Formats: sequence, C-alpha cells, structure tokens
Amino acid sequence: MQKLRKKLSAHGLLRTIKDVFNKNKSLETTSNRKNPIKIIDSLMSGLAIFGLKYPSLLQFDQHYKNDSMVRHNLSTLYGVDRAPRDTYMREILDEVDPGDLRKPFKKIFADVQRGNALEQFQFANGYYLISMDGTGFFSSSNVYCDNCCVKEHKNGSKTYYHQMFCAAIVHPNQKTVIPFAPEPIMKIDGNSKNDCEANATKRFIDNFRREHPHLKAIVVADSLSSKGPTIRELKAANLCFILGAKEGDHKSLYEFVEEICKQFEYHAKDGTIHQYRYTNGVPLNDSNPDLMINFLDYVEISSNGKKQRFTWVTDIKITEQNVHQIMKAGRARWKIENETFNTLKNQNYHFEHNYGHGKKNLSTVFAMLMMLAFLIDQVQELCDELFQQALLKKERKKYLWESLRSIFFNFTISSWQDLWNALIHGYEKTVLKPLNSA
Ligand SMILES: [Zn+2]
Repeated sequence: MQKLRKKLSAHGLLRTIKDVFNKNKSLETTSNRKNPIKIIDSLMSGLAIFGLKYPSLLQFDQHYKNDSMVRHNLSTLYGVDRAPRDTYMREILDEVDPGDLRKPFKKIFADVQRGNALEQFQFANGYYLISMDGTGFFSSSNVYCDNCCVKEHKNGSKTYYHQMFCAAIVHPNQKTVIPFAPEPIMKIDGNSKNDCEANATKRFIDNFRREHPHLKAIVVADSLSSKGPTIRELKAANLCFILGAKEGDHKSLYEFVEEICKQFEYHAKDGTIHQYRYTNGVPLNDSNPDLMINFLDYVEISSNGKKQRFTWVTDIKITEQNVHQIMKAGRARWKIENETFNTLKNQNYHFEHNYGHGKKNLSTVFAMLMMLAFLIDQVQELCDELFQQALLKKERKKYLWESLRSIFFNFTISSWQDLWNALIHGYEKTVLKPLNSA
C-alpha cells in the first residue's frame, strides 16, 4: 500500500505519465531535424507550464532559455531532458493526436482505485457520481485551425470555437474531484459539419464504458442532457442518471406532474426548508412517450428567505427515504465548476493568445494537458500527505502556487519531496548579493 500511495504523489504521478507516453509508439520522435527535441519532452514541458501555472508560453520560453536553475528544476521535477523553444514546441504539439493523451487519465484512475482512494467517493450502494458538462475554451473571429467548429452569423461574419466535454467523479462531501479524459468537441478530418455536445456525450459514454466496464455510476448533468437520445445512450451503457430538467424542454412533464405528484416538506435544524414534489414513472416528453422517467421538483428556502428551485429527471425510483440523497447528488453537479474548469473558462478568449492555436491539434492538446495537470493537483490533494500539509500551511491554493513558484525560480531543487518539505517547514533564506557587473 505504501508503494501504491507513493505513486499518487507528484513525483509518482509525473513518472506514471512519462512511462505511459514512453510506451506509446506514436509519440516516438520522427522529425528529420538534426537534433530533434523529443515529443515526450514537449508534452512534459506542457504539463510543467500548467502545473506551475505559467501565464504564457512566452514566459516559460524566456525562463527556460535564460535560467539554468529553471532548466535543472524542470529536469528533476518534471523529467524534461530538453525543452523546445516556443515556436518549435507549438509545431511539435500541433501534430500530437489528442487521443494519445487519454491513456494517462485511465492509468492514474486505476492507481487511485488500487490505492483505495476512490472509496471515499462512493455515494450509495457502491455507486459513484459522475458529473459531466461541456465547456468552451476558445472563441475567435479571426484565429482558426482545420479543426475549429464554425458559427456563421447573418451578417456574413464567422466565429471559430473549440469546446470540450468534461466529466469527473464527484461527491457532495469531497472538495476534490477526479476528472476523466475530456472529449474534445472539434471538427475531425475535414468533416464539413460542426461537432456538438450531444455527439461528445455519446463518445464519452462509449469510451467510459469501454475503459471502466464494471464501475457502477450515476451521471449527474444539466438539462442539455435530459433529452431522449442521451437518456437512451445512458441506459444502454448501464448508467443511472439524475439530469436537470428545465420547464421549457419538458412542458408536458411539468403539466403532468402538477396533478399527480407526492409532496412533503422538511425543516432542517439550520432553519433551511426543503420542499419536495415528485412522481415516478412518467413519460419524458411528447416526442418520447415510451421513455419513462421519475421527476423531482425541489425548492430550498434558506433561513434568510432566499428561494432556489431545482428540477431533475432520474431513473432512480424516488421515495420519501431517498429524495434528500437524490437532491444532494443532483446538486453535486456543480462540483465540476471549480478552479481549473473556471480557469479554463476565464481564459476562453486568451487561450490562443497565451499558448497558441496551431493549425490542427495544438489548442486541444494544450486543453487536455491543462486537464491532466489538474488531475495531478487533485490526486495529490486527495492522497499525498506532503501536499496536504503544504496546502494546510499556505491556507489557500492560490498562496500554495505562489510559494511553489517562488521556490521553483529561486532554488536548485532535487525532488518534489524537498519542495513540499520546504513549504511545510520553511527553508534557509540567504542575503541578496548581486554579482559584480564589472
Ligand atoms: Zn481551431
């Protein structure tokens, strides 16, 4: 177990990822340049950029070029033997198939499972909650690549965009989430039609079931997913679901429910009032009269009078005993909206500016590497004691990253263990002595 847990530290996780890349033949460098940089070095550099929260590729490039300490630390911490300059890195990563970045997600998930760290995410009866949602990470009127989706406006102008369909294991009482490999939403191989979230949902479900044939799971998602085709795909893949249901999409359901639902109220100790109305075994909507679902309408009234309403459709039979659980699961969907997903969203319009867009895959490869760096952070927070202690000491993630960067740029570091220990216990600071310019 000790050995397994070591695999779930920064050192272990990065090593696992590099091993997975090393075994992948399509990531072997075939460039006919004289002294080519390895594709794997470029990928590990990309991970370092997001792991160290570099605001731009240019800044990374400048540090790497000018600072031997940064080069040393990238080698000891991220296993980067030789990083390419910025333009060359973009060239290399643009050619990488985003599908080749799936494997590390699967391998790390298996290690988390074997290290008994997944258990704490079990929601009920051995089931896990999977929150899923699409997110945009690039949009532009003039920068585009072969794989951009395109929206044509009435005035003749175009918007180019990339999105990603993201999914993660979540739990109402857990701060961390465990992301799966995202599904890029993009045009592939000169396809003239745009890709869309519904297609990506289907790809995710297929890939998830292939990679995790026995994992018992309840999918929680917003109302975009509570449509006939997606519900049928979830059922076919043996996945339970709790999906948002907006009135506009489910008119007949709402009308139906007005008449036949059960209702009751629960007053919690903190003054919150929970109002439930539900009904089992009703058709999803007019276009799917044969698709029977269960419907939950929930209103929360906080002690200060604030009212919030949520509605879901689910295949789980709703009873007075489990309705509170179902509500909690449905609301855990928001867990997917945390630091990195928001970072990604906030960078919507700067992604190409900060890292580059490329001609084919670059934008998507960077987004996948960002998610992989996020997975490393989350697994460490979940499993690695040194990371946990360092976070406790620095109180907030933001301060932890600041301190980590400060040490990274100012000290020669031989291991992640030393780095975390320095953050936990402090370290020797020396007096500034500028070198003589003469
Ligand atoms: Zn593009």
